[in-house]
Amino acid sequence: SKSLSYKLMLANSLIHSTDKGIFAMLPIGQRIIDKLIRIIESEFMKIGAQKLEVPILGNKEIWSKSGRWEEMSSEMFKLEDRLKHHFCLQPTAEEMITELVRNFGTLRSTQFPLLIYQSSPKFRDEMNPRFGLLRGKQFLMNDLYSFDVDEKAAKDTYKIVCQTYERIFRHHLKLENLFIVEANPGAMGGSISHEYQLPNSCAEDKVYLCKKCSTAYKFEVGLEAKTDCIACKSSDSLAVVDTIEVGHTFQLGDKYSSVFNATMSDNKTPYYMCCFGIGVTRTVAASIDVLSTSQNAMRLPESISPFKLAVILPNSDSHPNTLFVNSFIHELDQLPTLRNEILVDDRLDKSIGRKLAEMNQLGVPHILVAPGKKYVDFCESPRLEYYRAIPKSDQLLSEGLVS
Ligand code: ATP
Ligand code: MG
Ligand code: MG
Ligand code: MG
Repeated sequence: SKSLSYKLMLANSLIHSTDKGIFAMLPIGQRIIDKLIRIIESEFMKIGAQKLEVPILGNKEIWSKSGRWEEMSSEMFKLEDRLKHHFCLQPTAEEMITELVRNFGTLRSTQFPLLIYQSSPKFRDEMNPRFGLLRGKQFLMNDLYSFDVDEKAAKDTYKIVCQTYERIFRHHLKLENLFIVEANPGAMGGSISHEYQLPNSCAEDKVYLCKKCSTAYKFEVGLEAKTDCIACKSSDSLAVVDTIEVGHTFQLGDKYSSVFNATMSDNKTPYYMCCFGIGVTRTVAASIDVLSTSQNAMRLPESISPFKLAVILPNSDSHPNTLFVNSFIHELDQLPTLRNEILVDDRLDKSIGRKLAEMNQLGVPHILVAPGKKYVDFCESPRLEYYRAIPKSDQLLSEGLVS
């Protein structure tokens, strides 16, 4: 069964499936991904995080050092080179990043916190890859790692990055019904961890939501189902919401720094680490699921919509007022907010109605329609009709005329 986001991403040519759980990103999909990465990076710049990239091939030695060559074995894609050296396609990068930081040598205290991140493909041999980009064997993750001199500093850093995560999801993507829940760190290790969950009918995860005080908790499968709220103590106030995890943050402590000898130069104390991951491709799919209501109309957060504006030109039969429309488009393109953001639909083989339906299906938030000559003749000056795609609806709102 396909999720709504998967159907919409296929219908709008955002992605192409080359195998189960493996996808090519097509040009329109790539524009969305690039925009989301730019949003994340603009926020990371504000907190002094530096971008880098580590290899995808991780050798068995570093993964054995942390014990995860065995622990994560069933989800790991493993391979050998011609000399029979063992590698994996990395599912995450704590080992490689910690080893890298150890090799930086002496870090002076002014360099803390050290925040480094990448946006790179991750590989997991998922038991059940499904729902398109929601659960792939290869996916894009933005992963950030922090290094601090003591636990208190690490907790401060954790808080700052978590606030950044909230700004990304709530302020930039306007995904208001994001649940931030305390979670079990699992194989990642460490003590404290939070998950960022969005409502999603595929129900890959679940959270409890208190109807009285709105506190959200992780619903741990196999636990006895709770009924009473821990925060406000109300009884029978918990509802279970189907969700999907879009981000995960961890306070790792010295789990990796101690085994990799990533220590301060003076007293040899291991760094206190945190790590943070946003599923970039999953977030795109999950936000489409949150904002779209039908297979006819994809809806995305406006800040990652592939185009801000579509201008629909009439087909060949209608003799468009070409000069006027072209100079108008040129003028719009000069505006900094619209530069490289306008999709001009000048296909001659499709009617205006058909093109309007397709732009609505793609979910371009603002649409201008240039009428054909027979309409223009009736007007003193040429005018364009303005439509707006409404989130959580498959309708276009007609906003009248612009001249
Ligand atoms: P899940 O519980 O859904 O399997 P996870 O807890 O295994 O995810 P993490 O190891 O916490 O995932 O990775 C960080 C983020 O990477 C997740 O919050 C999620 O957004 C994304 N992610 C993980 N696995 C996949 C996948 N198979 N396809 C797409 N995104 C994924
Ligand atoms: Mg998983
Ligand atoms: Mg999880
Ligand atoms: Mg997780």
